[in-house]
Amino acid sequence: MKNTFKSDKLKGVCYDIRGPVLAAAKRIEEQGQKVLKLNIGNPAPFGFDAPDDIVRDVVHHITDAEGYCDSKGIYPARVAIYQYYQKRKIKNLNIDNILIGNGVSELIVMTMQALLNDGDEMLIPAPDYPLWTAAVHLSGGKAVHYLCDENNDWAPDVADMENKITENTRGIVLINPNNPTGAIYTKQQLLAVIDLARKHDLIVFSDEIYELIRYDDTPFTSIAALADDVMFVTFNGLSKTYRVAGYRTGWMVISGALEGADDYLDGLNILSSMRLCANVPTQYGIQSALGGKQSIYDLTAAEGRLNQQRQLAHEMINDIPGLSTTLPKGALYCFVKIDTERFNITDDEQFILDLLIAKHILLVHGTAFNWPEPNHFRLVYLPQVTVLEDALSRLKDFLRDYRQN
Ligand code: PLP
Repeated sequence: MKNTFKSDKLKGVCYDIRGPVLAAAKRIEEQGQKVLKLNIGNPAPFGFDAPDDIVRDVVHHITDAEGYCDSKGIYPARVAIYQYYQKRKIKNLNIDNILIGNGVSELIVMTMQALLNDGDEMLIPAPDYPLWTAAVHLSGGKAVHYLCDENNDWAPDVADMENKITENTRGIVLINPNNPTGAIYTKQQLLAVIDLARKHDLIVFSDEIYELIRYDDTPFTSIAALADDVMFVTFNGLSKTYRVAGYRTGWMVISGALEGADDYLDGLNILSSMRLCANVPTQYGIQSALGGKQSIYDLTAAEGRLNQQRQLAHEMINDIPGLSTTLPKGALYCFVKIDTERFNITDDEQFILDLLIAKHILLVHGTAFNWPEPNHFRLVYLPQVTVLEDALSRLKDFLRDYRQN
């Protein structure tokens, strides 16, 4: 018998945003042809430059950053994070409970590894940012998906959440503002989630990496500001708002009800110590990011570049027969519904591959976001308006003839 060199722990772990569809796009590129990649929320390649002061601070401190730092991160950055969440009125903050990581991604995996025993369950939104589901599986847990309701601006279905709680449930994940749907949750919706967490003694994990990418003055509340008797883990980072995804810098804040949290914090400390520390130079950008001018607002304002692209994408998609999408309130994406009967679609990944081959446009199928039906895809609206116009016209052309019943 031949040895196998892939761990069983990876069974059920997948991250299709960079999966087989991207491999197919690379094959097209290797033949010398261009592919417009609308699959990844990576602002820099689309001409969204990082704020100068962040880059300057990182460069300025580069010689101070040659050694490892504290496993939790450099102190001035953690103070800046502390002050940021103090202003947002998050309860029971403590600098010791703020950890900096190599992006939110690393911290998501760490929080699940530190919490879950085999068979423990986590409530995760459907659709989700699929790293959450993958991290739960990798940690031996079971991802239990609660539905978000497209007919109610993609709000979390709290009744569905409650129905899916069992004695094995350990926590609830919220992604707010949401990737892929663009939803932003109201205070009432958040309070309903808190009620469930309180009643069933669950930790709330709130991924707020798009916190400042909001349009139309949509209000936003960090869920951890709404209660002090539930444990919260709040995530944020530099990748999106500050357009430096390549710096791999994010953080998490554990707050709220901390009685009994010692074990959990101990586990997180073990895991963060094992990888010694996060990338040090870029941590010097955190203080200027959080304290400086929030240039993201120039991009999300009514006439701002991101907002214009969002509106164009929304309008042009809804103008294509057989497609529809809600107006995203935040983040960088449209999660688009496909009329599967009209196009005779039963496999959304195949649909995405067919589009890629015919039009050299790369999107991501909805089931990659753990959406249960093959009737959605996600589009990243980061390219300039002219590029988006061209891409969406090509999509319209493609669908005009695609497998019409
Ligand atoms: N969380 C969400 C909801 C995301 O969309 C992303 C990236 O797309 C991440 C986390 C990962 O962020 P980071 O670059 O900080 O690892």
